[in-house]
Amino acid sequence: MARAQVTSQPRDRIMSCRDTIHLICWYLEGKLSPSVEGEIRKHLADCSDCQLVLNAANTTLDRYFGAERVEEAVGEIKAA
Ligand SMILES: [Zn+2]
Repeated sequence: MARAQVTSQPRDRIMSCRDTIHLICWYLEGKLSPSVEGEIRKHLADCSDCQLVLNAANTTLDRYFGAERVEEAVGEIKAA
């Protein structure tokens, strides 16, 4: 069965790319309500552009939290 929604159908998607990208940080931090999260997941499943943004944001957060962990480790060494 061919999918008819190859061309742009703005009304078909509840979340726009702009909305999704705007919310991705909160999405990664788990700060969104389950319904909004669901909308983002739905959009991401269909949109490779936003998947790229999600991956990039993930990497950034990993680095951010990685840096925090290093600081924690330093604190532990001082405390020991
Ligand atoms: Zn998108």
